[in-house]
Amino acid sequence: MRVTRRGFFQTVGVAAGAAALVKGKLARAEQAGEDLRRWATPEEVLVPSVCQQCPGGCGLMVRTLDGEVAGLSGNPLHPINRGALCPKAFGGLQLLYDPNRLKGPMARAGERGRFRSIGWDEALSMVAGRLSELRAKGLSHTVAILGGQYRGYRDTLWKRFAEAYGTPNYIRVRCLPPEKPALAHQLMQGVTTPLSYDLGEAQFILSFGAGLLEAWLGPVHVSQAFARLRRSGERPRGRFVQVDPRRSPTAVKADRWVPIVPGTDGILALGIANALIREELYDKEFIERHTFGFDDWVGQRGEAHEGFKNFVLREYGLITVSTATGVPVRTILEIARDLGTTKPAVVVGERGPAYGPDDLHTRMAIHSLNALIGSIGVRGGLLIQGELPLSPLRPVQKDEAAARGLEHPRIDGAGRGEYFLASDAPQALPERILSATPYPINALLLFATNPLANHPAKEAFARAFDRIPFIVSFSPFLDESSSRADLILPDHTYLERWQDDQVTHLAGFTCFSLARPAAAPLQQTRNTADVVLQIATATGGSVAKNLPWRKFEDFLFERVRGLYEAGRGYVVSAPAEESLRKILERQGYWTPEFKSYDEFWAALGKRGAWWDPTGLPVSLEALLATPSRKFEFYASGLKRLVDEAVKRDGTGEALVQALGGRDRGDLLYLPAVAIPAARKPEAFPLRLNTYRLMSRPLGGGGNQPWLLEQPAVHVRASWEAWVEIHPKTAAGVGVKGGDWVWVESAKGKIRLKAKLYTGTLPEIVHIPLFGGEGAKPNDLIANETDPFRGFGLLNTTRVRLLKA
Ligand code: SF4
Repeated sequence: MRVTRRGFFQTVGVAAGAAALVKGKLARAEQAGEDLRRWATPEEVLVPSVCQQCPGGCGLMVRTLDGEVAGLSGNPLHPINRGALCPKAFGGLQLLYDPNRLKGPMARAGERGRFRSIGWDEALSMVAGRLSELRAKGLSHTVAILGGQYRGYRDTLWKRFAEAYGTPNYIRVRCLPPEKPALAHQLMQGVTTPLSYDLGEAQFILSFGAGLLEAWLGPVHVSQAFARLRRSGERPRGRFVQVDPRRSPTAVKADRWVPIVPGTDGILALGIANALIREELYDKEFIERHTFGFDDWVGQRGEAHEGFKNFVLREYGLITVSTATGVPVRTILEIARDLGTTKPAVVVGERGPAYGPDDLHTRMAIHSLNALIGSIGVRGGLLIQGELPLSPLRPVQKDEAAARGLEHPRIDGAGRGEYFLASDAPQALPERILSATPYPINALLLFATNPLANHPAKEAFARAFDRIPFIVSFSPFLDESSSRADLILPDHTYLERWQDDQVTHLAGFTCFSLARPAAAPLQQTRNTADVVLQIATATGGSVAKNLPWRKFEDFLFERVRGLYEAGRGYVVSAPAEESLRKILERQGYWTPEFKSYDEFWAALGKRGAWWDPTGLPVSLEALLATPSRKFEFYASGLKRLVDEAVKRDGTGEALVQALGGRDRGDLLYLPAVAIPAARKPEAFPLRLNTYRLMSRPLGGGGNQPWLLEQPAVHVRASWEAWVEIHPKTAAGVGVKGGDWVWVESAKGKIRLKAKLYTGTLPEIVHIPLFGGEGAKPNDLIANETDPFRGFGLLNTTRVRLLKA
């Protein structure tokens, strides 16, 4: 006889009932049997959601048993990940069931760091009371909102709240706003929505340090594109070169790893440009028809300007470039030849090379290669994703208090002076709070960020916190920052709340994800998006009028209607249905799938995403929206912005420094990266290179054991923080693998486990920004700022090693 698990428990249930009958306790026994059956066959429901462990935006299916979350898997219908997940997705369970989550709102009791539990009503009236009081006194601008890494409508809601309340200080702590194109792309192409790299259709990828297969945008989505690049069959296997100071997991998978001196990626790009031009391997037709500033040119007043071509040929000879970057001349030539002769090819310059002092011009130099090889607007090159047709919001109707508050400049200085090109300048924030410049901050709202742990200026942030009379945190944990707050209003985890996701880096389609709560909240927490609406209602005035929704779900319901009414795209569906639709769409047909918006909304909630695989405006007109309607090697848009900034803010020293010095002239608008002078041996002879691990790219997850267990296979490291050292360098200071070592910079020193690694140049040591438990490189990194992005420079610090 075959005994199934269910049959076994049913048998047990029947036997138990019979025994009870004999004892005359039939009713109780039946109940017991029923309970047992229910326990053995719980009700299983799969709820679609969105993974929030990294910016990838993968679709999840959350398995619930009797309403409790029991497991996670990939949503097979979701176009971003097609059912696949990376290992860190499963840490979401440990986040949900973390015993250290706060049980409910907490208010400061006496000195900072001590708390008492309070109810939500009391907590909300404390926040709304303080915000209303400041607003009534004409001090709404002295409220700052500091937000971390998130996107979609939670960002929209906070932005709208700040505007309706009357503070210009909605400041984001993130290195690359996902809803905006990189500054280099904005300036050279004039685009206003992010570009996407069509990696899966490329035949050759040159990546300057982007952690494509680990911590760059979405590892699952990119891995699937990478698999398409490598596929054999109808086309040759695509190739891939990774430029990186460290042999990262991405570099290991590349056809060629090119080690480079940190911060010199832009110089290498210009060396490759030099070789492409000298060997006439560039796309002459694209350059002639669609670019400006390649050849020498004469301005409207008759002044002569040197073009990109002659500038690069003069300044970036291969021997000069090789000396500066550490990349052999032969390698530079071979990369240029591969790049110039393989189509389609694409050059990726995101994230990895960032954080050097010449970040903007480095990215411009790298992006110039895309123009030289004509990869803009072609499949396998650079595309633009197009906007989601979501229902627009009515503009904020400001009352007098809001209008007055918004007249003030931002506390972080973004958009003015030396930060005239930055949309946020969190690096400058603590010093400005400390010096009350241009005004003191009276209240700080902290959402999805922990600057006292994860920011290079964390000490300055800690001092600044002491100056702020009222701090509210929305963290679900008592972390370094929330423990210094006056009030904590803990957020749900992402498996417990309504949320959307709008991923902007997809090549070939647009996608909107909707997640509904997979389970009831485990603690007395609330979705912060709901709390923002509740605070708005309690604050009253134009704040309440501009945020009239009772719940975030209602807000989402209104916005999503636009997708239903767009007359394109569809709620994701089974592969057979999708294929049929694709065939019809190729023939120009689109038929509505639902009879009403309510039906559409219900289907979206059940399947998890809407997508439009066909609506790509890939025309060059859409991709080249600069003043000249061409790709601009000489960024005239930057010239206009600089002229405006100088007119408005004067030529103060800080602005001049941000612009690269008084004599920069045309070089400011060209992709010109300064070649550093050779340095003599000094007190801190080694360069510190920080990088992002796949397991914890943004720093979260420090309390998820599964993430700490799997951080770095290449050096066999987990749990404990470490530093990667070349064996020769380690021998020079008498250090063996596994020894404790002091890493010291001008700012401070930290003690770490030494991991010997040959995948590096001897003069560089590597520490993950957010690695295992223990000391973090933030204690070493100098508080230097990239003025163009307003963000800290993470890879300019020099260090020395001492055996501990
Ligand atoms: S790539 Fe990111 S979003 Fe996708 S499953 Fe992994 S952690 Fe989640």
